Amino acid sequence: MCEFCLKHGEGEKWYLQAKNYSEDLLSDIERRKFIEEFSNPDALARGSAGLERLGKAPAFIRDIFRRITARKMKKVHFGQVVPIEDIERIFGFTNSITRVACVCRRINLGEEKRYCYGISLSPDGGKFTGILRGADNSFFNGPDTSGFETLTRDEAMSAFRSHEREGLCHTVWTFHTPFIGGICNCDRSDCLAMRSTVTHAVPVMFRAEYVAEVISEECTGCRECMRVCQFGAVTYSASNKKAVIDQRWCYGCGICRSVCRKNAIRLEDRSKVPVAAKLW
Ligand code: SF4
Ligand code: SF4
Repeated sequence: MCEFCLKHGEGEKWYLQAKNYSEDLLSDIERRKFIEEFSNPDALARGSAGLERLGKAPAFIRDIFRRITARKMKKVHFGQVVPIEDIERIFGFTNSITRVACVCRRINLGEEKRYCYGISLSPDGGKFTGILRGADNSFFNGPDTSGFETLTRDEAMSAFRSHEREGLCHTVWTFHTPFIGGICNCDRSDCLAMRSTVTHAVPVMFRAEYVAEVISEECTGCRECMRVCQFGAVTYSASNKKAVIDQRWCYGCGICRSVCRKNAIRLEDRSKVPVAAKLW
């Protein structure tokens, strides 16, 4: 279990606890302010540029920066990779799902890509949607700022299956931990959080509570799983013509599983896989 499960999940998966999505948490003024200011494009662009500069800094500076950033982000805005079956469980108890444009893609691609979802326990989004309305609407809703796009659970699941086919990794996000207000669909080239965590080793999200493994007898060695893994965890064994997952690198997103036509990949509980159990 990740440290958020221990602190905010009462020993279960923290993102499956309804209390972490509650309206009560939104009464906190600091949290509301943080959410309102979240769409500030200048701050995000500065963060992105800072990450690129970090690579040129001496090792000890990078190390200090990593530790300070991770500690701070765990308090304000931290994520975790979540496979699609747990996304479905979250949608099972949330009552409102709102789709908005992804702020990272706005900055990096200059395009509106509706890959992010606001979730709430209250019908019509409750206070959370109210707060988002007070933020920069053009950022969340693109050129059409008239309203938020609301999805039913079935529509949301169908959208997530489509994101999964695109190879995007599902992640939940806190807005002043432990409140969870969003689920994103990330890729390494465009998503600031994923680049920060994976490319620059400045962690702002946990790996999933799972890791993948190949069922060797079923694998035909087609290498489709290698093509979609954004974390470099899959290699190919030329000698036995099978895919091999290095569980030390696996983030447990399950995207490789979804492209495997032979059902040769399964997700295991991270805690039961000794080599990965303490890797977050
Ligand atoms: S996609 Fe499935 S069958 Fe193909 S190499 Fe990967 S595990 Fe094997
Ligand atoms: S091996 Fe599969 S589950 Fe693990 S990170 Fe890569 S795509 Fe995700």
